[in-house]
Amino acid sequence: MSIPFLDLKAINLSQQAELEAAFRRVLESGWFILGKEVATFEQNFATYCEATHAIGVDNGLNAITLILKGYGIGPGDEVIVPSNTFVATWLAVTHCGARPIPVEPVDATFNLDPARIAAAITPRTRAIIAVHLSGQPADMDPIVALAREHGLKVIEDAAQAHGARYKGRRVGSLGDAAAFSFYPGKNLGALGDGGAVVTSDAALDEKVRVFRNYGSRVKYHNEVVGFNARLDELQAALLNVKLTTLDEGNAHRRALAQRYAEQLAGIANVRIPAVPEWAEPVWHTYVIRHPQRDALAAKLAEAGIGTIVHYPIPPHRQQAYGDLGYQDGEFPISEAMHREVLSLPIGPTMALDDVDQVAATIRQLAL
Ligand SMILES: *Cc1c(COP(=O)(O)O)cnc(C)c1O
Repeated sequence: MSIPFLDLKAINLSQQAELEAAFRRVLESGWFILGKEVATFEQNFATYCEATHAIGVDNGLNAITLILKGYGIGPGDEVIVPSNTFVATWLAVTHCGARPIPVEPVDATFNLDPARIAAAITPRTRAIIAVHLSGQPADMDPIVALAREHGLKVIEDAAQAHGARYKGRRVGSLGDAAAFSFYPGKNLGALGDGGAVVTSDAALDEKVRVFRNYGSRVKYHNEVVGFNARLDELQAALLNVKLTTLDEGNAHRRALAQRYAEQLAGIANVRIPAVPEWAEPVWHTYVIRHPQRDALAAKLAEAGIGTIVHYPIPPHRQQAYGDLGYQDGEFPISEAMHREVLSLPIGPTMALDDVDQVAATIRQLAL
């Protein structure tokens, strides 16, 4: 029996009738860009995140980019980012012409270490982007406190954390603005690309709405050099359906993570994720660490178990960022993670028994 890393087909077919009805509704409306479905989704998603505004955009990368543009961040500015994140966090910064300043994570949680941020702040620093990696909230209170002290914006990259809570509060409401992705594999996934900016800052809400739509409020009147970065009506209609089962899916992911923690405990060389007492993660990924990660992944693949490495190369070692001049070994905590991490299968349609099988296989391998 094989266990896929994520069964997207089964996830979406579990809501087949509602998704087909949503598709028909859009087809029959004859309205495909910035209409009722996007407006409804924006309201629903803002409420879900316990924030005032949500703006539907075309993907998660552009959600971050539009927040930075909305705050006027550009050439000559610096933005603090995690040294270990998906490259999109950095791309948004460099697409605006600003410079990403990497800060190392807390080894146990994979998330930005608040104690290391102060040393990275310079007179050019404008913002801190905290990523809630794997669906685990970053330690936001000290980050926000430090940002307030230095007059910096706090941006959440919540692309992996729809519904996670920090000290009881939903991610998306913890800083000045948050970016979400609805890439199909995310906890809330569209049937294509999609994203959202979430904020309770009314001025930013207006700026992002203008930037996402060619820089215009009134058609053919361009106030700023904008983008075409809109969420489609069709994707919004599908997301309205999928939002109704997000909490249920997240609860199931938590049950699977709990089972992994029980079943993997005590296996030599396997490090399971730590959860701070203030965190309610949504387990976008379940990431273990192992000194022989590549051998483990290969053996699991032979046994029919799908895994993914999130991520094999840290942004500062990517060819694309060669011109930033970072060396191997410059961010050792992050680099060790990239060598050792392995994401195990997890998702809303995975059976609890499958966790037992994955864990038993890892135990038998005794690597
Ligand atoms: C997925 C992801 C993004 C980018 O989202 P897209 O919709 O794929 O553009 C940004 N940051 C993180 C941490 C992500 O996981």
